[in-house]
Amino acid sequence: MTEPRDHLIAWLKDAHAAEEQAVTMLDKMAGRLENYPHLKARVQQHVEESRSQADRIRGCLQRYDSDTSSLKEMGTKMMGFVQGLSGVFADDEVVKGVLASYAFEHMEIASYKILISAARTLGDVETVRVCEEILQEEVAMAKWLEDNFDNVIEKFFALERAGQTAKH
Ligand code: MG
Ligand code: FE
Repeated sequence: MTEPRDHLIAWLKDAHAAEEQAVTMLDKMAGRLENYPHLKARVQQHVEESRSQADRIRGCLQRYDSDTSSLKEMGTKMMGFVQGLSGVFADDEVVKGVLASYAFEHMEIASYKILISAARTLGDVETVRVCEEILQEEVAMAKWLEDNFDNVIEKFFALERAGQTAKH
């Protein structure tokens, strides 16, 4: 039987892998948003937040003396889902990107809420604190995206009328 703490460690590793992939995905997306400076700035801010989240999760793992050396190579099913949606070279790539990011934030929200439950159940108050802090950043990003759907869509239609894509 797997010990409860080993499950918590595995879930923390999944969260760490998701953050590293978020950094890659969002960084790539930000590079293609020349015509959307407001969105680009928020995405870049979340790249930095995600880097810091990965570090904070690494700290939780280190408190368990868990080996964090191989974390970078781990993939996640979560990202496969998002990459399938993101359609980087589609003509409506900005819309697909916003959709994928919004979906991804909600997977992160679910994942941190579950980590909080697991850590609380195991009495790991520091992991609860860290995950609650990260959860707030994910909720804020999801809310920002939602609040900006209209702006992005209006800009997208306007650019398309002018014969332009996200980047040029
Ligand atoms: Mg995150
Ligand atoms: Fe996030």
